[in-house]
Amino acid sequence: MTVETEQIVRSAEERSSDTEHDEGPSLIELDHIHKTYVMGDVNVHALRGVSLKVSPGEFVAIMGASGSGKSTMMNLIGCLDRPSKGRYVLDGVDVSSLSKDARADIRNRKVGFVFQGFNLLSRTSALENVELPMLYANVSSEDRHRIAREALHAVGLAGREANHPNQLSGGQQQRVAIARSLVNNPVLILADEPTGNLDSRTAVEVMDIFQRLNQESGITIVLVTHEHDIAEYAKRVVIFKDGKISKDYPVSVRRNAAEELKNLPVLVDDEDDEE
Ligand code: ADP
Ligand code: MG
Repeated sequence: MTVETEQIVRSAEERSSDTEHDEGPSLIELDHIHKTYVMGDVNVHALRGVSLKVSPGEFVAIMGASGSGKSTMMNLIGCLDRPSKGRYVLDGVDVSSLSKDARADIRNRKVGFVFQGFNLLSRTSALENVELPMLYANVSSEDRHRIAREALHAVGLAGREANHPNQLSGGQQQRVAIARSLVNNPVLILADEPTGNLDSRTAVEVMDIFQRLNQESGITIVLVTHEHDIAEYAKRVVIFKDGKISKDYPVSVRRNAAEELKNLPVLVDDEDDEE
């Protein structure tokens, strides 16, 4: 056993003997997290003591003014960065103390990312973009093709495997990004303003995919948005203010994207076949 695996196993054991709450284990547990960026001789306190628990199967919308610390927190939850102070446990593993490599390993196995700007490789087909996370996970090329194809199919993009990003609409590009986030079977999807660059119908289509993944596959979703109507597709809203959580409440009347899509006019898409 390497030191890191030992650390992982040990903190998992510590967690299972932890009886402070009885609502079952959290998937995400942030405990008094601080993040300070040092910029020359200026310290930016991006997070000032954030504590948050998210259970498996939740769908959380994070809101708050620009600069309130939302992306910083998403980066920490996604193990892209580490807190300056405080403890972070992801799926039973204390990741706040892990090395960069160990964090990358956990990230690749547990977390899928979706960004506002899609972050696709432009000179690469949809299929190859979706295959990318599996390159780091030692999946055979045959399995990579099959899994990527299935993921594109699952987000409604069967037949677009060979298209490059510039041959796809914004909504289709975001669906490629969602397919890419799924191929390593994440327990958690982190989406930072995923509908920020999309028109309103396309935004509902993307929320429909997230609601299905949450409902049907039990994937936990944490999504940043600045739009209240997008937050209403989640089950819970957490509001950030000045690097702290200022509000945390369940969505009382939840929106259902699949139902709404039935009543939204479909935009004409030249490429699609006539019936
Ligand atoms: P939000 O996503 O809510 O707009 P951010 O988490 O991006 O907020 O930023 C929170 C604060 O931290 C802001 O003051 C921002 O300027 C600062 N910040 C974010 N990332 C960095 C960084 N890499 N280096 C220095 N300061 C940063
Ligand atoms: Mg941000």
